[in-house]
Amino acid sequence: MIAAATLATSSPDREMGINRSSSDALQIDRVDALLPQTQCGQCGYAGCRPYAEAMVREQAAINRCPPGGASGIHALGKLLGREEIGLDPACGRERPRVQVRIVEADCVGCTKCIQACPVDAIVGAPKRMHSVVAELCTGCELCIEPCPVDCIETLPATRPRMLTDESSQSRTRYRARQARLQRIDLQTRSQRDQALSNQSQEGSTRAAVLAAIARGRARREQKKR
Ligand code: SF4
Ligand code: SF4
Ligand code: SF4
Repeated sequence: MIAAATLATSSPDREMGINRSSSDALQIDRVDALLPQTQCGQCGYAGCRPYAEAMVREQAAINRCPPGGASGIHALGKLLGREEIGLDPACGRERPRVQVRIVEADCVGCTKCIQACPVDAIVGAPKRMHSVVAELCTGCELCIEPCPVDCIETLPATRPRMLTDESSQSRTRYRARQARLQRIDLQTRSQRDQALSNQSQEGSTRAAVLAAIARGRARREQKKR
């Protein structure tokens, strides 16, 4: 069964100013609405929406989402008018959903799991114990591998599939995180450009001062002769 998330009323692509035809954007919204919103990346894309974009642009096959499974492929094939094919085993296998839990006594507070979580489902602070907010965890398991002390364990999820409201919540949280990372990236780049520009200005000023000193020295030498 696939999460039948409702269509977004406004496209994030349009909000983000990406130059794309409105019919493409609408179709991406429709395809995205058929994806589970686990944001696990097993399809080979950074999340459900990038995979939806690739399918609409006919750059990706419809059988790359293990959490969506066979029913997901069926729904995508129907919407996109493509042949229904079996799940690509290279992407993973269809299996019951899991959720994760942090063994808090072992957590060293490195924050690596927070950085890996695509939907901000982990709370914690540097050198403090971290916890997973169970209601927000999609079971993507992306936090497990980065944990240096292996203190994140998987459990069977309380619900076997993402329900519509969970998918919707996950989509919103994923988009909010992406927007935040984009802002941070822009800020970092702007700070770096400013630092380089300051360095270059300091360099020009220093060169001008050295040139003035050299001219003064040359004038003095000339007067002595
Ligand atoms: S649930 Fe995972 S595999 Fe499926 S589309 Fe989303 S990110 Fe890709
Ligand atoms: S807590 Fe871990 S498994 Fe759950 S959504 Fe975040 S990264 Fe995925
Ligand atoms: S990655 Fe592991 S040790 Fe680091 S904060 Fe997360 S749970 Fe704790």
